[in-house]
Amino acid sequence: MKKRIAVIGSGFSGLSTSAYLAKAGNEVSVFEKHDRPGGRARQFSTAQGYVFDMGPSWYWMPDIIESFFADFGHKSSDFFELITLNPQFEIIFSQDKISVPKNLEELKLLFEQIEKGAGLQLEKFMKSAKFKYEVGMQDFVNKPCHNWFEFISPKIAKSALKLDLLTNFRNYVAKYFKNEKLRTLMEFPVIFLGASPKNIPALYSLMNYGGYVLGTHYPNGGFYQLVLAMKKVAENQGAVFHFNKTVESINTQNGKVRSLTINGEIYEFDAVIASSDYHHTETLLNKEYRNYSEAYWQNKTFAPSSLIYYLGIKQSIPNLKHHTLFFENDLDEHIDCIYGVKKWPGKPLFYACCPSKTDNTVAPKGKENLFLLMPLAIGINDEEFVREQYLTEMLARIEKHTGVTGLRSMIEYKRSYCVSDFVSDYNAYGGNAYGLANTLGQTAVLKPKIKSKRLKNLFYTGQLTVPGPGVPPSIISGKIVANEIIKLKHEEL
Ligand SMILES: Cc1cc2nc3c(=O)[nH]c(=O)nc-3n(C[C@H](O)[C@H](O)[C@H](O)COP(=O)(O)OP(=O)(O)OC[C@H]3O[C@@H](n4cnc5c(N)ncnc54)[C@H](O)[C@@H]3O)c2cc1C
Repeated sequence: MKKRIAVIGSGFSGLSTSAYLAKAGNEVSVFEKHDRPGGRARQFSTAQGYVFDMGPSWYWMPDIIESFFADFGHKSSDFFELITLNPQFEIIFSQDKISVPKNLEELKLLFEQIEKGAGLQLEKFMKSAKFKYEVGMQDFVNKPCHNWFEFISPKIAKSALKLDLLTNFRNYVAKYFKNEKLRTLMEFPVIFLGASPKNIPALYSLMNYGGYVLGTHYPNGGFYQLVLAMKKVAENQGAVFHFNKTVESINTQNGKVRSLTINGEIYEFDAVIASSDYHHTETLLNKEYRNYSEAYWQNKTFAPSSLIYYLGIKQSIPNLKHHTLFFENDLDEHIDCIYGVKKWPGKPLFYACCPSKTDNTVAPKGKENLFLLMPLAIGINDEEFVREQYLTEMLARIEKHTGVTGLRSMIEYKRSYCVSDFVSDYNAYGGNAYGLANTLGQTAVLKPKIKSKRLKNLFYTGQLTVPGPGVPPSIISGKIVANEIIKLKHEEL
């Protein structure tokens, strides 16, 4: 018998879960508060002809994304052209810079030039990272994480030591490389996981493999092409999307979710999957049905929020790559402002994405699409004048690096986006951008659960639950939760 299933939200996890559930023959309705799909990965266009991806820009772990399409008999190339970037990105230090080539052999040579023996060390690092990636993707990442028993297997026991679960990432990298710049370069991928490298298990060196070895890619037309492709896949399976529909409450009866109130009207369902931010979803329930208390969330380590600028620049900016990391200042000082003292950084690091260097559809000819991002503590005051001060700082550093002068006068489109926008747009706790940090204490079984403890037909998915933040994990999260529901009979819901 067909189950009537509601999915709250159409970010990557919502898109993924709706596709799998519809494929299994369920009647799937997706309710999204915005006017388009994608959630944190939405896109917008401006009157001047710029097209901005609002969130993700690093297309890493392409194999995970391909496996989503393969599950539906597709390839990503059925929907968009994937371009492999070379260099993958450039990282700017106070005195010099490193361009990371797409080819590992070239990267090894580069490491060797910077530190004698580092080429071979990189090879060893990546060999171990590949092992972790393979074990992680095959044996860890797809688990629903109800309990630790899921992880008891001879294979996992055999590989436990080699996974470096109990070493921290910083110490792990330091065992391989002495040079500060190489260490920073190797630490950069885990910053995506929302915590200091000191607090991230070395297991996550799998990210270095998923990025530096499998490459940094770009879907022509922008990251949003992936959103559109996944929506198409879900629709082809029969999922129906409803936009400008805000879920206002989750209504219960006899230990089950009975209905949702959406834009003031009540709709009944057999099961509900919330891909909206976890804490917010729980506020849609009466207190006694919530999985976690306010104190629980207050004690969690959230991944950062961000200050973002979307800028339309009316001239070309020479010497700027598609991805540039402005790491001229101390990484730990900035990280401390995010997790320690929780304030605006004195000497910030930031990231610039200039997709118009690769893609002529995202800015008018001869102009640049510039996206600037600075990670920030959640919950801090983000008034426009403070944002502006940081824009001035970021523009000055881009000018210094590129040799361009008068960059501010070249801005013909400007939009800022910060902590309070994450709250109002996504109902994000504290205005977090990337969900919960992947610290050891917030990994796997220790993450917020995908299943309600009190309502048998309510489930959670997305970057705040397993396996964690990022586009590939969110896609996997959608699949995990779909499988949980698919295996239940109608009467078990
Ligand atoms: C600025 C930024 C840059 C990033 N960069 C990268 C990157 O380069 N690479 C990478 O892999 N990852 C990146 N990420 C992380 C990645 O984008 C996220 O992990 C992923 O998109 C999260 O998907 P999700 O489905 O969990 O959540 P979301 O995308 O937030 O989807 C949740 C949806 O629920 C909707 N919703 C909320 N409340 C309600 C309600 N009451 N009723 C109806 N709908 C509701 C929201 O509108 C939203 O559409 C980035 C994130 C941000 C913010």
